[in-house]
Order: sequence, then C-alpha cells, then structure tokens
Amino acid sequence: ENFVLKFKVVLLGSSAVGKSSLVLRLCDNKFSETKESTIGAAFQNCSLDVGDTKVKLQIWDTAGQERYNSLTSMYYRGAKGAIIVFDCSNNDSFISAQNWVDEIRSKSSSNVKIIFVVNKTDLPQFKVDREEIEKFVNKNNLIFIETSAKTGLGVLELFSDLAIEMSEE
Ligand code: GDP
Ligand code: MG
Repeated sequence: ENFVLKFKVVLLGSSAVGKSSLVLRLCDNKFSETKESTIGAAFQNCSLDVGDTKVKLQIWDTAGQERYNSLTSMYYRGAKGAIIVFDCSNNDSFISAQNWVDEIRSKSSSNVKIIFVVNKTDLPQFKVDREEIEKFVNKNNLIFIETSAKTGLGVLELFSDLAIEMSEE
C-alpha cells in the first residue's frame, strides 16, 4: 500500500550557498556551474519514497530575497519543514544560517522541522570551524547534514531525513 503525504518545505540561507542547486539535484538529478539566481516559480513539487510512503514536497525556494527579514509571511505559512543552508567555504554564510534558525522559529509554527545543512563539501577548503558548527547544532537540537549539490553527496539523505521528521506527527 502506498500512502501519500504532502508537506510544504522552505529553503533558507544566504545567496549563492547552493539552495537552488540542491533542489535541482533532488528533482532533476542535475548540476549547473552557472545556476541563475532567478527562477520563475515560487515553489517546485518533487516527490520521494520513504519506505512505503510517497512523500510529496512543495519546496519553496528564494530568488534574491535572501536578505535577512525580507521574506514575507506567505513564504513561511504552513511550512512543516525548513532547510537552512550554508557554504563550507564561507563563514559569513554560517553566521547567517544561525540567524535563520531564530527567524524560522519566531515566524513559523513551533513544530517546524529544521535540517541544518553545510553544502559545497566537494570544495577543498572547509573554512567554517567544525567545533563551532557542532556546538551550535547541539545547543539548538538540530539535525545536521553535509551535502554537495555538485556530486550529489547527502542530497537524498537530506530530503529523506526531513520527510521522515515531518511524517512523525
Ligand atoms: P542559491 O543562491 O543559494 O540558490 O545558490 P545556487 O544554487 O544558485 O548556487 C550558487 C553557485 O554555487 C552556483 O555557481 C552553483 O553552481 C554553485 N554551487 C551550488 N552548490 C554547489 C556545490 O555543492 N559545490 C560546488 N562546488 N558549487 C556549488
Ligand atoms: Mg537560488
């Protein structure tokens, strides 16, 4: 028997950390070095199987509104999951990601499931202090996943783990 669940998921994080690339990898299994920052649609639907359950994700991606506080309430409304992304080669993006955790917790329902993601782990320089990441993740009780939208590492795991978390209600 195949059960179908549907969830709204929002992507958060600084510009150019690879949010759109993670969606492109999940939905089309593609990567582009020159991904345009503007996309037409506000969200994209994509489904994956978690055990016997088909999970349909309505993934909301930002297109240039990544600046802190510029997203409208419509973006967060009804979201069951949030993926907060930073870039392992950019410490500023890690600082922003920490702010996004507070932002989503204040603007969305209290039971929103958050996955904290470090992307671009294929790059040779992992510049963000791993101990600081670990401290933040533990303190805030977050699920943490390392990804590369370029190689695909961790991408399915990211969305599957989130789907499982959202299903457990
Ligand atoms: P967004 O602004 O957060 O949506 O970021 P994009 O998905 O547009 O990606 C910004 C740039 O980073 C693009 O040039 C991508 O090709 C590149 N990029 C995204 N993910 C990765 C990754 O995992 N590894 C590497 N090396 N580059 C990536
Ligand atoms: Mg984008």
